Amino acid sequence: MFDADGREGMQSQYPLLSMEAVRIGYGSHDKTNPAVEDVSFEVWAGEKVMLLGPSGCGKSTLLKAIAGFIRPDGGVISFAGREDLRPGPDRAVVFQESDQLFPWRTVMDNVAYPLRVMGWGRDESEEAAGWYLKMTGLEDAAYHFPHQLSGGMKQRTAIARALALDPLVLLMDEPFARLDAQTRNRLHGELNEIVLRTHMTVVFVTRSLQEALILGDRVVVLGRAPAMVKDVVDVSGVTDPDSERFVCSRRQLRKLLADEIDGGRSL
Ligand code: ADP
Ligand code: MG
Repeated sequence: MFDADGREGMQSQYPLLSMEAVRIGYGSHDKTNPAVEDVSFEVWAGEKVMLLGPSGCGKSTLLKAIAGFIRPDGGVISFAGREDLRPGPDRAVVFQESDQLFPWRTVMDNVAYPLRVMGWGRDESEEAAGWYLKMTGLEDAAYHFPHQLSGGMKQRTAIARALALDPLVLLMDEPFARLDAQTRNRLHGELNEIVLRTHMTVVFVTRSLQEALILGDRVVVLGRAPAMVKDVVDVSGVTDPDSERFVCSRRQLRKLLADEIDGGRSL
């Protein structure tokens, strides 16, 4: 089971995150615009679960509900044994936007600041920040400001900041979608490395089949809005784009998405 701060025991029989018949709508009175309809899936500690679906299908809405930014209108989201989800450092979020950093703070301060807010002293928060900047290959940029960084470095900073919170899960919303293909490929490799080292649990939103296969252990395939689970596909160990399993899995995902993801075109 989970202890007081939500860390699981050695051999948990319970998923870290469980979504049961989750329904979320927008609209001030009657929630007439359903964005998520009857979504159920589970995420186990240490897993990388990809939420794959076409643009506008409700992926960000789902992630925001897990983060506690919005409440579901129906169903249950249970995280680390709790159902009253308010935003908290146990669920760190990395967004797509390159402007999620504080522009007036250095890379070091961007990563250390949330720790200071949580009551850490300057030295210990900078020490922790330095550790995660090293992990994300940013030591040389520690005293740069966001406007001096490339898109890839900005996203690395956001990842370092999220990791520094020592969360139970990293929630990532298309964090590499705006990067050029070369940078994106490099960050895929780096993220896989980091997850391997930290045993971090990741819930990652994407529109890209390729990304889902390279990063994921399991892929929750969502249909057109309102989001509904079409299938959950096991893709653990599928990382080499030239392997037969990769090609087969891509075919399987493409079939599931049919024409829902820009005619099957991967990002
Ligand atoms: P995705 O991340 O898959 O692109 P979203 O979760 O952002 O999709 O959006 C799902 C649906 O909900 C879309 O139709 C979108 O227009 C609508 N939506 C998202 N956010 C809001 C909001 N704050 N108010 C009203 N409608 C919204
Ligand atoms: Mg989105």
